[in-house]
Order: sequence, then structure tokens, then C-alpha cells
Amino acid sequence: MPANPPLTVGRRPAGAPRKKRRPPPLRAPRGARERAELSVQRLSGMYPAACELDFRNPFELTIATILSAQTTDRAVNAASPALFASYPTAHALAAADPAKVELIVKSTGFFRAKTRSIIACAQHLVARFDGEVPPRLEDLVTLPGIGRKTANVILGVAFHLPGFAVDTHVIRLSNRLGLAGTRDPEKIERIVTRMVPPEEWAGLSLRLILHGRRVCDSRRPRCEECLLNDYCPSSLLRGT
Ligand code: SF4
Repeated sequence: MPANPPLTVGRRPAGAPRKKRRPPPLRAPRGARERAELSVQRLSGMYPAACELDFRNPFELTIATILSAQTTDRAVNAASPALFASYPTAHALAAADPAKVELIVKSTGFFRAKTRSIIACAQHLVARFDGEVPPRLEDLVTLPGIGRKTANVILGVAFHLPGFAVDTHVIRLSNRLGLAGTRDPEKIERIVTRMVPPEEWAGLSLRLILHGRRVCDSRRPRCEECLLNDYCPSSLLRGT
């Protein structure tokens, strides 16, 4: 006679894997949706949906965005014309002599690592995407030097597709404006993109970056001249 099977009702059988607990749903702060809508409206009247890197096509934006790490867009814009004059396509950059590229991008800082990244990125574009920049987040993040933030910039700026890039300015402003209560970029992306229609993702991200650079400085936010100060929970004018 076979042995009785183990009782399983209401209990996990011995040796069975534990069920994975779902992470708690991401919560936006109270009133965040209304503030997000106001931010979309107000910022779109203040700034263009533009990034400050110079580029003529998705390839140039991709390379310029990699070069912009740890430096200013102005420094990249000063170096990129010479770079793209010598290497106008992914095929040309993929076959470049690293020593020559290093000389051109030296002024952008971390030039050896950046040279490695942009040449490797070009080689992947040639090997896997026929030398073209792919217009999909899942593909972009597989390229050397491209993280989720950069991929979203490329989607939004080069392809005019939904992409909410979360950089240091977007982290700071999302928190100050009470759109999200976390400093985790992926969580901020998930929270904000739930509250804002996809066609506004890229514009909102780009405008938050411009507002962070021009008005909502990390150390000294200029709340008195900020057009968001009537609803911003972090306004220094509150209570005055
Ligand atoms: S009111 Fe002040 S803290 Fe709020 S977004 Fe404007 S500058 Fe930043």
C-alpha cells in the first residue's frame, strides 16, 4: 500500500519553495497627480522640450550622451563637431584608432574610458543593428555606455518616442515638487510615468532638467522667481 501523500492544505509542504512576496506597490505622495499635471502645464510654457547637446541624428546624440557623463553639455558640444567630422557614422567610429579619438574627446574628461565606450558602442551598432541606433529601450540598454537614463533621452529626443529620463536634476525636482518620495531613479520613472500621459514623458523630463539647471538649483533654489512656487511643497516661500 502506497504511503499517504503529505498534507498540503494551508501549509507549505516540506521542501517546497517559498512563494515570492510581491513588492508593495509604489506610492506617489498625496496630491502628486495634480502637481504632476500642473508641472507639465507650467513647464511647457517655460522651456522647449529640448536637450542642450548638439546632434544631427540618433547616432550623434547617442555618442554625445555617452560623452556627457560627468561633464557639461557645453564641453561635449565643443568636442563633438571634430569627432563627427572624422567619424560621421557608426561604421567609421567602430574602426577608429582609439589614440586619435582620445585626443579629440580629451577635454570632456575620463577620456580613455569614454573613448572605449563610444568605440564599443559603435562596434555593437555595426555588429547587431546594421550601424543604426535602435529605437527600443530594451535594445538601447544592451549597448556599451548606455544605461536606462541615456536610453530614455535617446528615445525621447532622437526618436520623439515616450521616454522619461531620470538624471540627478529629475531626482531632485521630483522630490522637491512632491511627485515622488524616493531617490531611486527606476522607481521615480515608474511613479511619474503612471501619472503623466506617454506623449508628455520626454518633454516633462527635459523641462525638469532645464528647470533644475536654471532655477531649482541643488544648493540654492530660487523659489522667489520660480513659477511653480504656489504649489511646490518645498518652496522656501511657504509660511512667509
Ligand atoms: S519652488 Fe523652489 S523648491 Fe520648488 S521647484 Fe521652484 S525653485 Fe524648486
